Amino acid sequence: MGAPGTKGRPRFSLWSLLPHACLLCGADADAAQICVPCDAELPRLTSKRCAVCALPLATGRICGACLQRPPRYDRVIAPFSYRFPVDALIQAYKYRGRLAHARVLGTALAAIVPPDVDVVVPMPLAPRRLAERGYNQALEIARLVASATGIPLIALACRKVVETPPQASLPWKERAKNVRRAFVCDADLRGRRVAVVDDVLTTGATLNELARVLRKAGAVEVAGWVVARTLPR
Ligand SMILES: [Zn+2]
Ligand SMILES: [Zn+2]
Repeated sequence: MGAPGTKGRPRFSLWSLLPHACLLCGADADAAQICVPCDAELPRLTSKRCAVCALPLATGRICGACLQRPPRYDRVIAPFSYRFPVDALIQAYKYRGRLAHARVLGTALAAIVPPDVDVVVPMPLAPRRLAERGYNQALEIARLVASATGIPLIALACRKVVETPPQASLPWKERAKNVRRAFVCDADLRGRRVAVVDDVLTTGATLNELARVLRKAGAVEVAGWVVARTLPR
């Protein structure tokens, strides 16, 4: 998988000396954890996509939906579409505690994000979900992205204050209602350009609602930096 951000001093890491097996096929891989042939097969998003929501676009810069109802976020950056094997890597990370996958996912995201924000914040997880899972998957990815790019991370900028059913369990059109008023932001973000890091973006409803709250806290721009974008079937 792509090299991490090249900014800053390269750091010596014992990690790079350990033998690694490719997470996907088990062949020898370097510290990137995905071998070169598997990396070449990953479902990367093409450059022909909407500059705002990142959905594929045949012509133009911004899709009809974003022109008609501009979201509260400015743009979405994602290296992958949410297809095999990226979906499997994310699910194993999120639901089966494969924390090592965070490194692969975060490194791929860090390699493509433009350094055009002032702070990075993770998509918050509700306290009960956090207690069940033991970690916020978005925060672990955000840590990697922040350290690779040198952009400061505000880990506790926002909180999820309403326990909502998982978005994945709901039909797409109910998702905006489900997350309404679900977040508060405790940070002073006046004049800041903010990137929200998350694992997957599907309808954008959750990012849209968090962007609303971040703007109320003073953010002048909100980008969504996600590992994978779900594409319509
Ligand atoms: Zn492989
Ligand atoms: Zn769009």
